[in-house]
Amino acid sequence: MIDVEQLRKEFPILSTEVNGHALIYFDNAATNQKPKVVTDALQEYYDGYNSNVHRGAHTLADKATKAFEETRTLLQEFINAGKSEEVILTKGTTEGINLVAQTYGRMVLNEGDIILVSTMEHHSNIVPWQLIAKEKGASVIPIPISEEGEIIFEEYEKLLSDKVKIVAVNHASNALGTINPVEEIIKKAHEVNAKVLIDGAQSAGHLPVDVQAMDCDFFVTSAHKMFGPTGMGFLYGKEELLLAMPPFLGGGEMIKEVSFGGTTFNELPYKFEAGTPNIADTIAFGTAIKFINKWGKENMAAHENALLEYATEKLKKEVPTAKIYGEAQNKVSVLSFVIENIHNYDIGMMLDARGIAVRTGHHCTQPLMARYELEGTVRASFAAYNTFEEVDKFIEGLVRIVKMFG
Ligand code: PMP
Repeated sequence: MIDVEQLRKEFPILSTEVNGHALIYFDNAATNQKPKVVTDALQEYYDGYNSNVHRGAHTLADKATKAFEETRTLLQEFINAGKSEEVILTKGTTEGINLVAQTYGRMVLNEGDIILVSTMEHHSNIVPWQLIAKEKGASVIPIPISEEGEIIFEEYEKLLSDKVKIVAVNHASNALGTINPVEEIIKKAHEVNAKVLIDGAQSAGHLPVDVQAMDCDFFVTSAHKMFGPTGMGFLYGKEELLLAMPPFLGGGEMIKEVSFGGTTFNELPYKFEAGTPNIADTIAFGTAIKFINKWGKENMAAHENALLEYATEKLKKEVPTAKIYGEAQNKVSVLSFVIENIHNYDIGMMLDARGIAVRTGHHCTQPLMARYELEGTVRASFAAYNTFEEVDKFIEGLVRIVKMFG
């Protein structure tokens, strides 16, 4: 088990106050907090070796390029990709999915083809597919989920056919916490020759990820849910697919030679990294990965799971009018619920008045909310720096709110 008090010292924001109360930050599925080493890495780059990468023949450019490329290697190791060229740096999960939809999707989709996504997807794993499907005369079909919030596997199998070209599902759901059986999903999709994109926004920082063992074709995630900066992430793609795909954005970095007679494109991964990249945040992302490696992803997840179990039991016992959404067997530490006769927004506001940050609303999963006929939920999502005492205060706050509403 990790030493939570020691871990908390790494995060300056955790000793601040909000609305006159010590901050209790339970909105980690939206974005988690940053340790000082990560913000230091940003400052050190700008103050110490700010320079463009890959093209400078001077000391600073060389230092920046080395630090930038070190992140790619750290990411490769983090997900066990076979080659660092298979790691494309992006602005995050959303950009990664759009990249695949606009390049791979554009290349393979034809009239009548199907893209399968699950009912519990984030909008960013629905809308990019709808955009390309519309252009190509293809359709986006949802895989049904159960009352507990799990993909109904038999329904998924029934939907598979040779018309299905792409299956796109999340590894873990941001709104319910469900961990999806991605290996089995991928195996079945490959039987009909469909390719699979795994949205790892909620998994990469919490679950073991081995893209080769999983055999996914694409894996995308965001740095800001793993102690790294916002607007930063990466796409993993199998080399043979990335080589076959056309470029996404055009510009500097992504070319080999440009002439008005025709342009040739750079090698992987640069073919998909047009323009001056987000150098500082890439370097700081590497620092965040080292931070996770130092504390141990498994150790942190064990504590998060203990918090989830404790909070779930306590909520059921002390707030009997609460109904939990997402009671899958395997979950990341997301607790989504509604309380009878109290609007989720009011609950969020009243908790905030006591310094407790949770998320309320549809969590960018409107089709999922429609599945449960909900407008939204209250979502508490835990990180390794959260404590059992914070959970106690959160439940106390909910009990008080229920009493107030009589
Ligand atoms: N997918 C899931 C499951 C998410 O939780 C999120 C972020 N809430 C995203 C995609 C989008 O990530 P980003 O906004 O960083 O691109």
